[in-house]
Amino acid sequence: MTTLIDLASDTLTSPSAGMRAFMARAPVGDEQRQEDPSVNALQERVAALLGKEAALYLPSATMANAIAVKTHTRPGDEVVLERTAHIVTSEAGGTALLSGAMVYVIDGVRGVFTEQQVVDAIRRDDPHCARTRLVCVEQTSNQGGGTVWPVARLHAVAEAAHRHGLRTHMDGARVMNAAVASGIPAAEHARGYDSVTFCLTKGLGCPVGALLAGERAFITEARRYKHMFGGAMRQAGIIAAAGLYALDHNVERLAQDHTHAKILARGLAEIPGIAIDVAHVETNLVFFDVAGTGLTAKEAVERLLARGVRMGATGRTRIRAVTHMDVSQQDVERAVEIAREVWGRARAGAPGE
Ligand SMILES: *Cc1c(COP(=O)(O)O)cnc(C)c1O
Repeated sequence: MTTLIDLASDTLTSPSAGMRAFMARAPVGDEQRQEDPSVNALQERVAALLGKEAALYLPSATMANAIAVKTHTRPGDEVVLERTAHIVTSEAGGTALLSGAMVYVIDGVRGVFTEQQVVDAIRRDDPHCARTRLVCVEQTSNQGGGTVWPVARLHAVAEAAHRHGLRTHMDGARVMNAAVASGIPAAEHARGYDSVTFCLTKGLGCPVGALLAGERAFITEARRYKHMFGGAMRQAGIIAAAGLYALDHNVERLAQDHTHAKILARGLAEIPGIAIDVAHVETNLVFFDVAGTGLTAKEAVERLLARGVRMGATGRTRIRAVTHMDVSQQDVERAVEIAREVWGRARAGAPGE
């Protein structure tokens, strides 16, 4: 039995030997007192990378999003989000509990919406209505298919939001994938966004950590919620160092993940019964539909896993495969071969293994 080819998520990477060695040497201090030099250095670097005044180191991107919503809103306010946004689908309803905010979902195209949709979502200024306060975009859109929002559209949405007195937040968990795929610096993507979530544990390959960036006054307020939510740490430099290492070593290589995703998508497209939009595989996320094989997504991923390849069922017949640092081109090619064997046979009516 060969080792697992794990395409379930880009969060599955193990810190490399180089990253571990760098972490072991990191200078540290008390992070709660803002005396950890490695945390401080990472915050400054990420703030500069995103074109913001300041950034706050946090345990997770989920916490970064929760703190952003909390800082931007008051209870009873409404937040405009795309239906498939991570904040809506995968953050345990935190917007309701932690911020007491309403969520107004709009339907985008592969996760991307228009400035007109934002304007249309704003409720009238009337005592009957919640106060529309914040609009969030996700760059790249995860469930949209790893879609890269065109920078012009990002700017148009932010401008429309600000014109109507709304705040803007970018869930940029994979904003570096967007930057590498588009060739446009992350700060340009983030321009016009009052806050940006930045995740270290996806394609950047860190074991832990995320940041929230914004103006200095916003980050000062966000720091209070960081403490309240239990996100203030002590000698966190030992983990923040992984982020510093990743920014030096793991950003440009995201292009390889994108190439591998395209190889995977093209290979899957040739399997009878698989429906996939290869042209829209823009980054490292590959979504496709197995309805034509006669299998459900759950059955399809189980059969694949039995042969040493893991992908994730994200709908009744929808599957997500993700490329990352710990899968090679050879792994991806092998995954396609195995998928062809196990799913091709299903369609022919042969019993499953
Ligand atoms: C993974 C992810 C998050 C949350 O990241 P964690 O660090 O796992 O909490 C937020 N937003 C998007 C778009 C993500 O893909």
